[in-house]
Amino acid sequence: MFRSLHMKLVMILVLLVTSLMAVVGAFLMTSVTNFYIDDFYTQMNEAFSDASFYAALETEAAQEDGEQRLQSLLELYAGTLGIDSRNRNYYILDADSGAFLAGSDETAGAALEQTANILAARNGEVGSESDLAAGYMDVAVPVSGGDNHFIVYIRDDRATVSELNGELLLIILQALLVGLLVSVLLSFLLAKTMIDPIEKLTEGAERIAGGDFDEELAVESNDEIGILTTTFNDMASVLHDTLDAVENERSKLDALFLHMTDGVVAYDGVGKLMHCNPAAVALLDRAPEECVYADLFEPICPFSRVMAMRRGDYAEAELTVGERSVELYFATFSDEEAGGVLIVLHDVTERRRTEERRKEFVANVSHELRTPLTNIRSYAETIRDAEGGIPRETEDGFLDIIINEADRMTHIVQDLLTLSRLDSGRTEMVMARFAFGDAIDAVLRSIALEARRHGHTLTNDRPEHLPLIMGDRGRVEQVMLNILSNAVKYTPDGGHIRVTAGDAGDKVWMEVADDGIGIPKGDRDRIFERFYRVDKARSRESGGTGLGLSIASEIVQRHNGSLAIVDRDGPGTTVRLELPVSQAEGQEALL
Ligand code: ADP
Repeated sequence: MFRSLHMKLVMILVLLVTSLMAVVGAFLMTSVTNFYIDDFYTQMNEAFSDASFYAALETEAAQEDGEQRLQSLLELYAGTLGIDSRNRNYYILDADSGAFLAGSDETAGAALEQTANILAARNGEVGSESDLAAGYMDVAVPVSGGDNHFIVYIRDDRATVSELNGELLLIILQALLVGLLVSVLLSFLLAKTMIDPIEKLTEGAERIAGGDFDEELAVESNDEIGILTTTFNDMASVLHDTLDAVENERSKLDALFLHMTDGVVAYDGVGKLMHCNPAAVALLDRAPEECVYADLFEPICPFSRVMAMRRGDYAEAELTVGERSVELYFATFSDEEAGGVLIVLHDVTERRRTEERRKEFVANVSHELRTPLTNIRSYAETIRDAEGGIPRETEDGFLDIIINEADRMTHIVQDLLTLSRLDSGRTEMVMARFAFGDAIDAVLRSIALEARRHGHTLTNDRPEHLPLIMGDRGRVEQVMLNILSNAVKYTPDGGHIRVTAGDAGDKVWMEVADDGIGIPKGDRDRIFERFYRVDKARSRESGGTGLGLSIASEIVQRHNGSLAIVDRDGPGTTVRLELPVSQAEGQEALL
């Protein structure tokens, strides 16, 4: 119940009431005391200024039994002097010694001390000085009659004023009690009007701190608290919008970080791993907790060197992970704390392979062209330099070789051009629907003569019905011819070549099986590479360029099909061509 602000409010009100009561009480009690003292001296002054009374005192004092006479007179005037013989008494003292002679209270009189006023009266003066600090009020009046010298001494022990003050204190204490009760009640009332809205604001702030922006606080008044509540609601709404925007940005960044193909690894200022995205985990081929800077990158680019770099600067390096080549970019970033190191990992494996392939290809092209050129040159030189001429038949033979080599070069250049066009997508495919079976028959017819020349047995085992397919018939036949002519080329004379075909689902296939020299397992994947030949001499002998299957494979890919060597035991080779019956829309138009 006594929450901080409420407690403070109670304390303030209690202090206020208590101090107010104390001030009022002190003021009242002092006023009452002063009034009582003033009243006493006024009464005494009036009584003793009365000439008849004073003359009577003197007359009585002059008598032989002056003190009894004076006592009787004072008893007579007890009312005027306010003597009640309890709190206020009169005493008759000897004016010379100040000794007690008679009085309304004999016991007190006997123990009477010599006050300043008594001493003044003993000197013949009226002692009516009031001493606030003293616990009594007194007045001492010297009275002389004949040879008798007395002091009439009136003394009030202030009991009445003390009693009165006691009563007043009681009343003040009661009032204080009521005041305290009222102040507690008042504090509750104030709490209701002031602290409750503040508490609601606090609850609202706590809700917002917990991320709950659903409820607005009700504005219940137009006062400062109402304005504060409205401002609070506005602030919450702005905060909500800002947090939404930040959250959006964050989730965008998260998605980017999560799905980007480049790896990102971040370390804090002391080299502790902060972030590592899935791409980085895959590229480095290790779990995030194993991505320790000291192990992975320290030898390539020391941490201290990166940390010393200025913002905007970066360092490049390359790392080989297994068969992968990863390009690394090191940079620093700064945050509220010490900042850290950010590493971006870019997979350049494919780029490096392509570069390698390109270099190899250029070397192959140069080599392939140089060989026929060397032959042409040497035969031409032989004809030119032959002294005395060379026999006609030999010369014809040489010239035939020169023509053959020139043709080979033309073939190579033509094939390279075809490949280059296929690579750049410049080759237009004339798309049409045609019978797959008819294409097989046509190719078989065109190769039949060549096969017969080599004494091969060519078997066509295709089923009667094969579906129509969508594609460039000329190109597809070019692929089939390449496979068949390879079978003819790489099978020793008198071999068997069998063509089978079929359709399965939305695909058609054709297989060409021969019982020739076969392709070693290790070379099977590579024969589709440009200029790759298992037996270079044999290929060249038979007019091959080593580009036939590369071109065939490109054409098949453009038809979304596949071309592969069938993994089969036994002598010879089986090549399988698979093509889809139809092409995707758009793709068809492209073909
Ligand atoms: P090439 O012009 O040399 O025939 P290809 O690209 O058509 O070039 O073939 C690549 C290589 O694949 C050939 O050099 C040959 O070594 C091998 N090859 C292709 N088909 C066969 C086959 N039916 N039997 C044996 N080897 C083959």
